[in-house]
Formats: sequence, structure tokens, C-alpha cells
Amino acid sequence: MTSLGHDDALSGVAASDARTTELARRLEVVQARISAATAAAGRVDLPGLIVVTKFHPAADVRRLSTLGVRDFGENRDQEAAGKSAELADLDVRWHFIGQLQSKKAKSVAKYAYSVQSVDRPQVIEALEKAVAREKDLTGRHDLECYIQVSLDDDAGAHRGGARPSEVESLAAKIASSPGLKLAGVMAVAPLGADPEAAFERLAVVSAEVRANHPEASGVSAGMSQDLEAAIKFGATHLRIGSDILGSRPAVG
Ligand SMILES: *Cc1c(COP(=O)(O)O)cnc(C)c1O
Repeated sequence: MTSLGHDDALSGVAASDARTTELARRLEVVQARISAATAAAGRVDLPGLIVVTKFHPAADVRRLSTLGVRDFGENRDQEAAGKSAELADLDVRWHFIGQLQSKKAKSVAKYAYSVQSVDRPQVIEALEKAVAREKDLTGRHDLECYIQVSLDDDAGAHRGGARPSEVESLAAKIASSPGLKLAGVMAVAPLGADPEAAFERLAVVSAEVRANHPEASGVSAGMSQDLEAAIKFGATHLRIGSDILGSRPAVG
């Protein structure tokens, strides 16, 4: 984290520097993969692209915004809060995609357009309260909430999320919370498993949610390694980090 903002000196934006050129090239490759996979799936509309900028400096978000990217994903509140404050002049939307502790809800409600990692009732209650407060203070819009679904057979596994059997009660709770908008479901494919099988399961969960909540049509699935599988099984939003930004420093 110490490297965050190391090139904040990047003045203004238009910086046609070497890093911007590299990001443009990588973005183009990913967009071509998305287009090809969308066509192969017989789909008409391209899924939305959320560029995951965790561990990369705010200056990279600024560069990507000059390249037309509007949606960014972050998984830690401290890092996201810092970047969103530093980049308050940009017309971008922040999506919170990491495990969320209830005590961070107040901070997340200040900058997040969506929280994609809702997986328990306490977080919904904390977000409802926090969004109500921000609405009073700043008039913020409703917060889009995605229920993160665990696709591990071995529930409680490492990547977070509610069990499929818990999803409907969470959906009902979000739908009845003022200030929160039930947007859909989100998942990370289990490590070492076949991503197509995982995303096929997610599509079933999504259909179950939509049966009671037709508006909750979002399916956030697909990362650098498995975006093709996610598109094949109906992803409406992709969360792509390393294939656009390059590798992240190892965690921990
Ligand atoms: C880091 C992260 C991503 C992006 O993963 P890449 O493999 O770098 O594309 C997507 N979703 C979540 C929840 C993440 O934490």
C-alpha cells in the first residue's frame, strides 16, 4: 500500500505517458476478448466492464478514465476511500467488491455506487443505516447491492459469499430496505474448479432471485482468467484487474 499514489505528480490528466499507452493496449486486448466471447455466446449486448484497480495507484484510475473507463472496483475500504477522495473530480463509479465488515459501511456509503459483496443480514442493516445518513448529508442516490454467492461445495470456503440457500432471504431483506436497490448476484469462481460449471450454478441462482425480484437482473461474474466462461453463462458485469493493470504485488 505504500506505493499508492507514488506518481501523484501526474499533473492534470491527459498524460500520454508510457503507462497510459500500456494501459490502452491492455484494455484493447481485454475488450476484444469480451467482444469475441459475447459474439460466441450469441449475445447482443456487451457486458459492462468494471476495472479492478486494487493495489494500483490513483494515477492509473485517472489514466483509465481518460481512456473511457467509468467503472472501477476496489476490495478494501481504506484504499477505495483514499482513491475516491483523491479523484473526486472524475466522473467515475466505484464498486466495492471485497469482504465488508459492518463497521466499514459508513465509509463505503460515502463513495460506493454499488456493493457487490453483500453476504449477511448485518451488512444489509449497516448499509441501510449508512446510506440513510449519506442521503441526508449529500443526497446520494440509492446504493446498488449485489448478493455475493459462494459457489464452493464446501461452504464457508475462502472466497466469501452466502450459500445459495440463503440468497432469497437476503434478497428480500435488501428489497425491503429503503435506500438499497437489489441489483443482482455476484460470484468468484472457486479456485481450481471448472469456471463454466460454477457460472452455470450462478445463472440458476440468478434466475431464482429474478423470479421474485425481476429488477435484480445483474450477474457480476468473470475475472481476467475466466471472463469467457462468465459471458457464456450470462454475466452482465465483468470485474477485470490484472489483465488490464498488470500483476499486483503479493498480498501479505
Ligand atoms: C481482484 C478481484 C477481481 C479481479 O481479478 P483479476 O484476476 O485481477 O482480474 C475480481 N473480483 C474480485 C472480487 C476481486 O477481488
